Amino acid sequence: MLKTHHCGELRLEHVGQHVSVAGWVHRRRDQGGLIFIDLRDRSGIVQVRIDEQNQPDAHAAASSLRGEYVVQVAGTVVARPEGTANPELPTGEIEVVPESVVVLNASKVPPFLINREDVVDEEAKMRYRYLYLRRPNVQKNIILRHQVVKFIRDYLDERGFVEIETPILFKTTPEGARDFLVPSRLNPGTFYALPQSPQQLKQLLMVAGYERYFQIARCFRDEDLRGNRQPEFTQLDLEMSFVQRGDVMALIEGLMTTMVGKFVPEKQLLTQPFQRLTYTEVMEKYGSDKPDLRYDLAAVDVTDIAGKSGFPIFVQNAGEGKPIKAIRVPKMGAISGMQLRKETANLEELVRTVGAKGLAWMAIPEKEDEEVKGPIGKYFTVDQKLQLFARVGIQPGDLVLFTSDQRDTVYMVVDTLRRHLAEKLQLADPNVLAFAWVIDFPLFFWSEEEQRWDPSQHMFTMPVPEDVPYLDSDPGKARGSQYDLICNGQEVAGGSIRIHERAVQEKIFPLIGQTMERAKEQFGHMLEAFEYGTPPHGGIASGIDRLIMVLSGETNIREVMAFPKTQNGADLMAGAPSPAEARQLEDLFIQLVDPSRKS
Ligand code: ASP
Repeated sequence: MLKTHHCGELRLEHVGQHVSVAGWVHRRRDQGGLIFIDLRDRSGIVQVRIDEQNQPDAHAAASSLRGEYVVQVAGTVVARPEGTANPELPTGEIEVVPESVVVLNASKVPPFLINREDVVDEEAKMRYRYLYLRRPNVQKNIILRHQVVKFIRDYLDERGFVEIETPILFKTTPEGARDFLVPSRLNPGTFYALPQSPQQLKQLLMVAGYERYFQIARCFRDEDLRGNRQPEFTQLDLEMSFVQRGDVMALIEGLMTTMVGKFVPEKQLLTQPFQRLTYTEVMEKYGSDKPDLRYDLAAVDVTDIAGKSGFPIFVQNAGEGKPIKAIRVPKMGAISGMQLRKETANLEELVRTVGAKGLAWMAIPEKEDEEVKGPIGKYFTVDQKLQLFARVGIQPGDLVLFTSDQRDTVYMVVDTLRRHLAEKLQLADPNVLAFAWVIDFPLFFWSEEEQRWDPSQHMFTMPVPEDVPYLDSDPGKARGSQYDLICNGQEVAGGSIRIHERAVQEKIFPLIGQTMERAKEQFGHMLEAFEYGTPPHGGIASGIDRLIMVLSGETNIREVMAFPKTQNGADLMAGAPSPAEARQLEDLFIQLVDPSRKS
C-alpha cells in the first residue's frame, strides 16, 4: 500500500508515529515559508504542515500542488501547537509534518469545487459524475447505501432468506410501465424485455420450493421520468411461502424499525407499531394513497351539513351525490383581511390547476364577538355553523377550506392543498418518520380511456378471499390483498398475497383486456407452473433509492445513486444512449425509421 494510515483516522494517540498517507489536495494555504495542505481520502481530512526551513524539499514539492492533485505524504504525526486545534475536524488535534511529498498525479482545475457543498449545475454534476461523487457529502450517501444494503442482507439471512439472482434478459414482467426491449441476434426478429421487477421469477421460485427469497434487484421501467423516477432503479425484492399478509408486513416492519434505530437513531417513528389505514380511509381523509402523516390537515366530510346551507353550488353538488369536504388550517384565519384575501386567492389558483372550479372558505375570528369572514359564511345559519364547527373541530383563528366536486377531483384538491400548506406553514417535522401501512386497495381501477379494468398493483395480486366472487359479478368491488408501506408522503414498499391457482389467475386476464390467447403467449409459463403444487405465497418490494432518501434526508433521488440518468434518460458522462453502428444493426436485422416520421 502507498499508505500506512487513512487520513481521517489519525488522532493524538498516533503522535510520534511515522506514517504515510495518500489522497487528494482538498485545500492548500500558502503562507510563504509555511504551506498547509488539507489532504483528503475517503475516510476524512488531515492537515499537513510544511515548513520551508526544516523541510526544503517537501516545501518545494508542495509549492506546485493544486486542488485535487493526488499526493503521497510520508512524515511524522505531531500534536498541533497550543490554541491551533480545530474542533470541527476529527483529526483536528494533530497534523503531519512530512519528510517527503510525492505528486502521484496532477489534476486539471475541476469544473466545480470538490471542497464545498454548494449547489452544482445539474448538467455538470452528471457530465463529471466522478468528480461530483468525490464530494464528501455525496460519498456519505453512497456509503450509507452500501451499509443499508449490507444490513438488509444480514437481517434477511438471519431469518432464513436466500438471495437468488434472476435474469435481466427476460420476458415482459409488467408493473404498469413500458418495457425496455433488447433485440436478440441469435433469434432474429425477437426481443427480450428487461424486467420491470422480478415479480414472475420470484413467484416461480416459490413454486420451486425456496420458501423465502430475496434479492437486491435492478428493475427497468421505460416511462416519463417525472420527479424522483429513474429508468433503472434498485428494489429490495422478497417473497415468502405459506404466509398471510400480516406475516410479510411484520417482517418488513421489523426490518424498517431496526434499520431506523441503527442508521438514524435521532429520528422518531410516529407510531409503533405502524398504523394500518385502509385505502378508502386515506383517500377520504388525505386525498392520497401515500399521505404525509406528520401533519393533520385532514379533510372532513360535511356534505350533509353544507348541502343544506343556502350556498347554491353546495346544494346542487350534494343533490348530485358529489361530496363536500372541509379542511381546517390552524391559525391561518387570524391573518389580516387583505393578506387573507390574497392567500385564499392563491390557494384557489392552485386548486384550479388540478381541476377544481373554485375554493370556498371561512375564516374564524379569534374573538368570539366578531363575525366569520369569507364569501360563504352568510349562506350558513348559526345552527349550521355550530354543527360544522363541531364536526371539523374548529378553533378560534382557524381558516376552513371547502372543496366539492367529483370525488376524484376532491381527492386531488385535498392532496394538493395538504402538500402546499404543509410546506408553506412548515408543518412536517424533519425528525419524524411517519411510517404507516395502507391496506384494502381496490383490486382494479376502471380505465375510461381503455374501457377496461387496470390492476391497481399488478395482475398477480390475489383478491381478498371473501371478494373472489366479485371477479365474476362486480370486479370494481373486489379488494386486493395488497399492502403499501408509506413514509413521509412517499411509498417506500408495496406488495401483496398472490394468486396461486390457475383458475383464479385466468379470471384476471379478460378483465384487464387480455385475450386468453395473448395471456397464454405471455404468461403461459405462470399458468402452467400454478398446476404443479404452488404454495400460497406473498411478498413485497421496497425501493432502495427511496429508502436511502428517507434515511439521508435527500429530496432528489440522484443524490443517492452513483450514476443516475437525467430526466431524458441520458447518461451525460458516457453519452448514452447513442446511435448503433450500421454493422450492429445489420447483425440484429434492424432497420431504422427516421424518428421524425413517428406518428
Ligand atoms: N413487484 C412489485 C413491485 O415492483 C412488488 C411486489 O408485489 O412484490 O412493485
